Amino acid sequence: MTAQGFVIVGGGLAAAKAAEQARKQGFEGPVVIVGDETLRPYERPPLSKEVLIGKAKPDTVYVHPQEWYAEHNIELRLGVAVSAIDRESHQVRLADGSEIGYDKLLLATGASPRPLPVPGADANGVHYLRRLSDSEALKKTSSSPASPGWW
Ligand SMILES: Cc1cc2nc3c(=O)[nH]c(=O)nc-3n(C[C@H](O)[C@H](O)[C@H](O)COP(=O)(O)OP(=O)(O)OC[C@H]3O[C@@H](n4cnc5c(N)ncnc54)[C@H](O)[C@@H]3O)c2cc1C
Repeated sequence: MTAQGFVIVGGGLAAAKAAEQARKQGFEGPVVIVGDETLRPYERPPLSKEVLIGKAKPDTVYVHPQEWYAEHNIELRLGVAVSAIDRESHQVRLADGSEIGYDKLLLATGASPRPLPVPGADANGVHYLRRLSDSEALKKTSSSPASPGWW
């Protein structure tokens, strides 16, 4: 169990920037980012543009270098979702059964694609694009767009 501090749920751009600002504003207590993706926070716009068309490498999308988190004493708990929040006891429960106490909690869980509710929506060649792995999978198909004029 981690000591009380600032817990950020969601490992995206908002989470990374909130942690950055907490340190910039002088907060010295524990900062923990809990994200259900296994990758550290990254930017998604390139996933449908430069990364998708091969103009940028996937490793250019990260908000901060890996070492930045340790340098700023920001703990990354990746690959695990927050499954419950107990506001009375100021605890979040993680899907792996562990708990983290917080003084301040930020929910930065973003959005996820809404499955298309039509027949055939799960056919081969139909893709959803949210994560870096989605972009890489789409890039491997022959039907990837030649220009980034869509998002
Ligand atoms: C392909 C694509 C292209 C885009 N292009 C543009 C653009 O050109 N211009 C623009 O302005 N915006 C663009 N956007 C939108 C922009 O990327 C989002 O506004 C931005 O990602 C929001 O950041 P966020 O941190 O709030 O949320 P997200 O990036 O969605 O990150 C939230 C994270 O929280 C995680 N999470 C959710 N629930 C839990 C939980 N219970 N426990 C732990 N983790 C959890 C999610 O898995 C995710 O990793 C694009 C988005 C996509 C997908």
